[in-house]
Amino acid sequence: MDKFEEMLQKMQKMTDIDRKQMINKAKGMCICGKCPTYNDCMKGKTEFLFCITGKSSCTTTKKACICPTCPLTPMIGLKFAYYCVNGSERELRKLK
Ligand code: SF4
Ligand code: SF4
Repeated sequence: MDKFEEMLQKMQKMTDIDRKQMINKAKGMCICGKCPTYNDCMKGKTEFLFCITGKSSCTTTKKACICPTCPLTPMIGLKFAYYCVNGSERELRKLK
């Protein structure tokens, strides 16, 4: 089990309140707002943390993805990019 799977397991054992707090903390670390792909629609809907929450509900054109430079990437062992278009790390790994 790698870092990301350990994090998922930890989250599953958390109370709803603790999980929400953890997600809010992670949202504060998300650097999507500085990314060329991040658009006005996402901004208007305050969408962030696509690596955890999954695809954006906005129509999105891939320009670049700065996820690999995000502090969360090494912290939780993310391996992919373009989560706003392709879906969450969990979905991309095909984990339940
Ligand atoms: S890895 Fe990408 S989607 Fe996830 S928090 Fe960082 S910038 Fe946002
Ligand atoms: S998930 Fe990647 S491509 Fe999408 S807005 Fe965030 S940094 Fe940019």
